[in-house]
Amino acid sequence: MPENTSELRPTHPLAIAPVVAPAASVDGFAKQFLQNLNFDQGVTLSTSDVNDQYLALAYTVRDYLMARWFDDRAQQKTQQAKTVCYLSAEYLLGRQLDNNLLAARLTDIATEALAQCGIDIDDLRQVEIEPGLGNGGLGRLAACFIDSLATMSVPTIGYGIRYEYGIFRQAFADGQQIEQPDAWLRMGSPWDFAHPEAAQTISFAGTTETYDDDGVERTRWVPEWNVLAVPYNMMVPGYHNGRVNTLRLWRAVATNAFDLHTFNSGDYVQSVRAQTFAENISKVLYPEDSTPQGKELRLQQQYFFVAASIADFIENVLPGDFDLEQLPERVIFQLNDTHPVIGVPELMRVLVDEKKLEWDAAWAITQKCFAYTCHTLLPEALEVWSVDLLGRLLPRHLEIIYRINDEFLLEVRERFGDDEMLIRNMSIIGEHPYRSVRMAYLATVAGSKVNGVAELHSQLLRDNVLKDFAAMWPDKFTNVTNGVTPRRFLRLANPDLSALITEALGAGWTVDLERLRGLEALADDADFRERFAAVKVSNKRRLSRVLEARGEDALDDGHMLDVMIKRLHEYKRQTLKVLHIVSTYEGIVSGRLDIADVQARTFLFGAKAAPGYGMAKRIIHLINAVGEVVSADERVQGKLKVLYPANYNVTLAESIIPAADLSEQISLAGKEASGTGNMKLALNGALTIGTDDGANVEIRKLVGDDNFFLFGMSEPEVEALWAEGYRPADFYQGDERLRSAIDLIAAGAFSGGDRTVFEPLVSNLLYEDRFMALADFSSYLDAQDRVDAAYADQDGWVRAAILNVARSGYFSSDRAMRDYLERIWHATPVS
Ligand SMILES: *Cc1c(COP(=O)(O)O)cnc(C)c1O
Repeated sequence: MPENTSELRPTHPLAIAPVVAPAASVDGFAKQFLQNLNFDQGVTLSTSDVNDQYLALAYTVRDYLMARWFDDRAQQKTQQAKTVCYLSAEYLLGRQLDNNLLAARLTDIATEALAQCGIDIDDLRQVEIEPGLGNGGLGRLAACFIDSLATMSVPTIGYGIRYEYGIFRQAFADGQQIEQPDAWLRMGSPWDFAHPEAAQTISFAGTTETYDDDGVERTRWVPEWNVLAVPYNMMVPGYHNGRVNTLRLWRAVATNAFDLHTFNSGDYVQSVRAQTFAENISKVLYPEDSTPQGKELRLQQQYFFVAASIADFIENVLPGDFDLEQLPERVIFQLNDTHPVIGVPELMRVLVDEKKLEWDAAWAITQKCFAYTCHTLLPEALEVWSVDLLGRLLPRHLEIIYRINDEFLLEVRERFGDDEMLIRNMSIIGEHPYRSVRMAYLATVAGSKVNGVAELHSQLLRDNVLKDFAAMWPDKFTNVTNGVTPRRFLRLANPDLSALITEALGAGWTVDLERLRGLEALADDADFRERFAAVKVSNKRRLSRVLEARGEDALDDGHMLDVMIKRLHEYKRQTLKVLHIVSTYEGIVSGRLDIADVQARTFLFGAKAAPGYGMAKRIIHLINAVGEVVSADERVQGKLKVLYPANYNVTLAESIIPAADLSEQISLAGKEASGTGNMKLALNGALTIGTDDGANVEIRKLVGDDNFFLFGMSEPEVEALWAEGYRPADFYQGDERLRSAIDLIAAGAFSGGDRTVFEPLVSNLLYEDRFMALADFSSYLDAQDRVDAAYADQDGWVRAAILNVARSGYFSSDRAMRDYLERIWHATPVS
């Protein structure tokens, strides 16, 4: 039990008693809740509003977790266990209340205690604003991973940035995306704890100089300006295991030193401006997904959080007398994509300049302390920083990168001879179109391991993107297929299915998802199928209520729910989905299709586009325009409907996924690194229509070809078509269905007769089509015909849906964490 006494000498008996959680009873909970309402929110029950009540409830849940949190943090210092430091610029956490209630086994107690206070806990759930500190898959992955690590009792600190404004709120005006700031902190932030006393000073710019240190020449960095990094700690409770790990997010605050100088010179306005400048660092999350924006502020953000995290770990988590030669025994810094890679030269700087280790010793330590996860295959998404910018902002780090590169290239020469082409290709410094630091290469050189996020992706990394490095260090490369947390995406999101599974298999599946295999036998049980189907129906009703509450259309009974929910990106091919909708619509209207043969469907999209990504925004406009025409056309009434609720986020995902029948995973083969939306949907009993891309490949292998609708070119076929010369217009000419669909869009059928609105989109498809939507169109439509036929046999469909659930246990992030622990981190859970 944690105590209050470590360095104090208290005499009061309460001060030397252990910190304990309040009584886990309805009365105990109610008492604590009311106390928090009175003394933290400053209101009585009768004068409180729903936000007061929500905050008091959050504080109460925290109170129950607190003693364990104290304990686990104290242990981290004293135990010799290795800590996983997950470095991620994004955490797409989703709402916290329900997750923390579940983890602490308080859901029923809290519900009853609040009911006795006259409060419906559901009303409080609804007011929580999710912290949207991520863009999409990469940020959500980080959130799933820290949940699994806590549940598996692995000592972990998630490090990131506490953006004041997270991912923008999306709204539509005339079908077009508009972005609004996400003021998620406006109503209070009950889940984190600020620790200004533990702030780190983070420096930027300036110069470097050498000096004589007792006969040894050393370098020091003389920075030009500083900011404070103030940590905010969030609890990351494990599921039912009493473990509480920490997510530590940094906020930028101006230092006194920073503005005192200007202030003293009498320029008050300038000094405030300077303060704003410093605090901009944690102001906004870059609304980018898979393409870097070459912004100085973004590099500042990266260095800011990574430098603060490394210093924090060394100074505050390790014991004071720690021998840094032993660092690799105590920590692994996992780099979630290239955003934190500047941590490599930073650790070198700390070890060599500050701790005065020899370069070689420092490099040996650093190489063991980092591992790198690559998340992309798109060349334009591989982050580079101009040498100019990096040298200006982080002059000492640039020197260190140069030395790392020099020594690395010597090694390349030793291994492969003086192959200048190879040297140029592998150099961490790129020369064209401008001198730049290739962050993925730096991570690959420095990391003890490099992993891709699905089998196909890891193979393509080895064969293409990083092939020279794989030739040099074959053992460095490995795969860990992504996963999703079954707590949030099954247990919480789909309570009815969870109850059905628990009834069938017992309770252990939530932490041992392979147990879902037990459902296979029940796929042939007519009674179980009926109950499974009833859950889907009730989830659709629940989604329908959520949509109506947001002012959207309800779902139609009896429709297949066909969902495509993910960031808007050309490689994901929302356009291909639109072409299918337009083609079906056009087919019915023109009489080519007999309406009686068409399965009634609701197409549901959820997607945000990066604000600067013009083509993606045009696609959003097209989806909304098509939706408006199709949903209003009497001739397809009762058959086709298109819904596009704005602002897709984790909260919305939790309503959509359990209701979905069909999961659209239709990226061009070789472009989607893994996908995790595909896993969430399969786990909730949606059947996938998908290409052989990312983790779809593994989903199909596991659930079986009969329970998956495969279409499209394979990755080698894509390569072959490029090599041969791809002419999308040939596909347009060659398929009447495709021609009619594109012609309809081009003729202005969805833009009030205006042919200019979607002209750029149409001509991009016909003459460029980088992601080969037209080449895969006919195969996609054929697969959709198979979907319709399969859905007509409801018994068969439900059976396949059950098998999807039963065979998707592999996609638990618990399994992914076991793989990381074994293959990369060499760390173990603590008891
Ligand atoms: C899972 C998830 C994603 C990732 O979806 P993909 O289909 O894998 O791209 C993006 N956003 C949210 C809100 C998610 O929950």
